Parts: sequence; C-alpha cells; structure tokens
Amino acid sequence: MASSSESNALKRRVYVKGERLTIEEDLLHEFKGHRNFSKDDIPQAAIINRTQRPISRNLCGFLNTGVGGVVYCGVTDGGEVQGIRLTNYQKDHVLLSVQDLFSRFEPPVDSSMYTVHLVPVVTDVNHIPEITAHPIDLEQRNTPHLLRTSKYCWCDRDASAQHDFGMLPPLYVIEIEVFPWDPECKLSVTPTTPIHPLFCNEERLYFIRRLGGLHQPSLEEVIQLAEADTARYHTRKE
Ligand SMILES: [Zn+2]
Repeated sequence: MASSSESNALKRRVYVKGERLTIEEDLLHEFKGHRNFSKDDIPQAAIINRTQRPISRNLCGFLNTGVGGVVYCGVTDGGEVQGIRLTNYQKDHVLLSVQDLFSRFEPPVDSSMYTVHLVPVVTDVNHIPEITAHPIDLEQRNTPHLLRTSKYCWCDRDASAQHDFGMLPPLYVIEIEVFPWDPECKLSVTPTTPIHPLFCNEERLYFIRRLGGLHQPSLEEVIQLAEADTARYHTRKE
C-alpha cells in the first residue's frame, strides 16, 4: 500500500545532530531554537530582552503569502540541527499547543491547512536507534496540559524528573508545515475567485513573509496578495 510505505519512509526520515541544513531561511523556511508557539509561551525575561518572538508570527506570515512554508524548531538561525528533547507526554503537549494556537487565529485555521512532523535527531546516521517507547501511563496522559503560559506544565516536570534519573528523552526537530493555499478551502473569501482571507495571529497582528523576513503588510500589499492569489487561481483553471 502506497500510504503505508510512505509513512514508513517518513518514519525513517531523521536529522543528524550538528548537521547544517542545505536549505536556508527564505520565503518558505524559518529556523527556531525554541518551541514557544504563542505570545503567552514566551518567558517574561525573553519578552523584555526581545530575545524570542512567538512562532505564531512566522506561521501567520506563511498563511498570508498563500504559498505555505515550514517552521523548523530545534534548528539554529545558522541552520545547524540541535534538536529539542521531548518525552511522549511533551510530544502530546506540542501537538495540542499547535492546535490551540491555530484555533486562536482569526479566522481560525482549519486542521486541513497544516501538519506537524516530529522528526528524530540522531548522533550517527549509520546507527539509527529504535525510538524506545517509554511506558505511557494512560491516566497521566489524560491529565490536561497547561497551555498558553511560560510556566512549566506537568509534562515538563515529568521530563525533569526523568532527567534526574539519568534518562534523556530523544531529540526531535519539530516541523510545522503550512500548506499552500487551496482555493477549494471553505475559508475562501469569495466562491467565484477563491482568494484566502488575511489571517491574524493570537496577538491580533497581521504578518506576511517576504524574502527579507517577516513584516506587517500595508493595505497596498494586501491588495497585491489578493491579486496574486486571483492570478494563480485563474492560471490553474486554464
Ligand atoms: Zn504539558
């Protein structure tokens, strides 16, 4: 079955710790060293020092260009793979955070418009360790995660406790992929020329992705985007 071999291929996809990616930060790719998705996840000190900005801004930018893009969490600005350690519970937390984040966009981002890949990071590409399944306590797993805060969630405390026992959870690169705008999407502004709405993030700010990075668009740029969408749609139909 194509789908299962495809998913096997995805399972085998890994990054190597310390490798430098061949892709660069551009219109479609953004590297982040942290996993603070919304403004509420950023620690106070990082807000004051302006050392971290919420990942939601980049995702918002990808949605508003209409051509999609990928945020890679666990990769330095220079494109070096570091990875982020995640227990199974923290993986749940990440997936829930991203879902929660997109539900706070305006309009809310449909789950068909994005996907999240947790790609393992290994130290030696010739020795890909089996990801050992740490036992999962179902009752624990059903404990609600603490979202929209920079405070430690129970899953982070659990990870620290494991760490104290010398158990290091595996490293991952978290890839959040925003798909190119699909004119069939129910969020289309008009049914006859299905251009995408202008999305704002949970801060109620609008961003677009440009080659030089992210910025907040002027009205003129919003009109240009709509025109580009329209042109793409009609070219596609011919
Ligand atoms: Zn959690």
